[in-house]
Amino acid sequence: MKFIYCPICGGRLEEKYSYDEGGVPYCPIDDIMYFDTPKPCIIVAVVKDNKMLLMLRQNYTFKDSKVLVSGYVSNGEEVEETVLREVKEETGIIAKDPKYLGSYYLKAKEIVMLTFMAKYEAGEIISSEEVDWAGWTNIENAIDEMGEDTIGKSVVKMVLEEIKNVRN
Ligand SMILES: [Zn+2]
Repeated sequence: MKFIYCPICGGRLEEKYSYDEGGVPYCPIDDIMYFDTPKPCIIVAVVKDNKMLLMLRQNYTFKDSKVLVSGYVSNGEEVEETVLREVKEETGIIAKDPKYLGSYYLKAKEIVMLTFMAKYEAGEIISSEEVDWAGWTNIENAIDEMGEDTIGKSVVKMVLEEIKNVRN
């Protein structure tokens, strides 16, 4: 998002030259440059016993499709913390060992999606109010149940590769 007004003081931003970025919106009162940065978001495949995958249904995102746990990175937290926090908040499950798998950029939403896998540590499923269903799905069947969630599917494919490597 290109900033026009300062979100702190409400003043109109000026253009300030930045060596790397060219002209950047700048507030001379607060002395802050507002770079045009994307919103970081995580998506995570939590795996139990190399066999079961933690999945959700959220009818407001993808109707009739299972999805992986996802959420926005909060300011002040490390991305690995976001992964574990979102899993806990949306499903009640405690996960561990988040492992980064790669990123995708979603132009329409200005989101940079950081993909992870993590391992089940403890806990029972208690779905939050944001979620219509949460549960374990056999990872071999997961992709068929994921409908339009293309990023989620590619994460599951990467996880299947990882699991094969562990087994071999
Ligand atoms: Zn300002």
